[in-house]
Amino acid sequence: MAGKDYYSLLGLKRDATEQQIKSAYRKLARKHHPDVNPGDKSAEAKFKEINEAHEVLSDKEKRKKYDQFGDQWQHADQFTRAGGQPRQQTSYRDFAPGGAQGGTQGVRFEEGDLESLFGNLFGGARTGTSSRQTRQRQARDIEQPVEVTLEEAYQGANRLLNFESQEACPSCSGTGRIQKMMCSACRGSGAVAGMKQIEVKIPAGVNNGSRVRIAGKGEPGFGGGNSGDLYLVISVKPHHLFERKDDDLYVDVPVPLTLAVLGGEVQVPTLKGKLALKIPSETQNGKVFRLAGQGMPNLRGSPQGALLAKVKVVLPTKLSHEEKKLFEQLSHLRPMS
Ligand SMILES: [Zn+2]
Repeated sequence: MAGKDYYSLLGLKRDATEQQIKSAYRKLARKHHPDVNPGDKSAEAKFKEINEAHEVLSDKEKRKKYDQFGDQWQHADQFTRAGGQPRQQTSYRDFAPGGAQGGTQGVRFEEGDLESLFGNLFGGARTGTSSRQTRQRQARDIEQPVEVTLEEAYQGANRLLNFESQEACPSCSGTGRIQKMMCSACRGSGAVAGMKQIEVKIPAGVNNGSRVRIAGKGEPGFGGGNSGDLYLVISVKPHHLFERKDDDLYVDVPVPLTLAVLGGEVQVPTLKGKLALKIPSETQNGKVFRLAGQGMPNLRGSPQGALLAKVKVVLPTKLSHEEKKLFEQLSHLRPMS
C-alpha cells in the first residue's frame, strides 16, 4: 500500500469532514462491491482499496497518524513508542476473493467493526455495534413503485418486476459465519445485495396510492427470521378519454345537434368497448347519464363504480346552402332560440 493516497482514492480533499468521508465511501463501496461486479477483478481491487482508505480515514486516531506519517502511518506506534509492537491491522485485502475461508492466513479480524460497517453500508437493521446479538434479525418490508394503465387497473395485470434487494448470503445461509470464521462473501453481515425478479399479480380496481401486499416477498429473514413483505405502490397513468374519481369514471360523449334535438342512439366508450345509449329528444348540452356498473371494479369487493357520460353537443360546421336555409326557416319560427 506504499504511496497510496487515501484521500484521492475516495475523491476527497484533505480537509474532508467525517460525513464527506462516509458518504464518499458509501457511494464508491456500492459501485465497486464484488456482489455488484461478479468476477470483475479490477472492481474487487478497487473495493479493497476504498475499504482500506475508509478504514483509516474514518478512524480519528488512524487518520491523524496517516495525516502525520503518510503511508507509514501503521508504524507510527513504533515511531512514537520506540520498541512497541506494531498493531495488527484489519483489512479486507486479507480476504480471499469469493472464497469462504481461504486466504485468511492468521489475520485477526475485528468482526464487530466489519459487520457494523456493512450493516451501515446497506442501511440494514444492524444499528447496534454488537452484531452478535442481532444475528437473527427482523426482515424488512420492501416497497416497489408500479405504474399501470387505467385498462390494467380495470382488468388487473401480471407484472414481472426486477429490483435490487438484500438477500441472505448464499455462502453462509445468512448466518455471517462459516464454522467459526467470518464469512468472506458477505463480510459477516449475512446479507448480500442481489437482483430479485418476481411475477406479481396486480388486482383489478387498484388506484393511485394503492398498496398491494405480496406476503413474504420482502427482504429475507437472516439467521432463521421470517421474510418481510413486498408492497407494490401503485400509480395509475392518466387516460386520454376517461377521468376517474374513486370507482367512478367520467367521459365526454360528443352528440350531433340533430341527434340531441330529436333523440336517438349514441355510442359511449367504456373500458370494455362501446356501449349504445338511447338519449331522449331535446337532450341538453352537459346532461350527464349515469351508467351503473360501467365504472371501475372495487378493490375490496364493493359494487363496481358507474360511468358518467356527459353530453357534449356538437354544432354543425360547413353548412350546405340547403342546411343554411333550413336554419333560417327555423330562426323565423323560433326567433328566441
Ligand atoms: Zn455470508
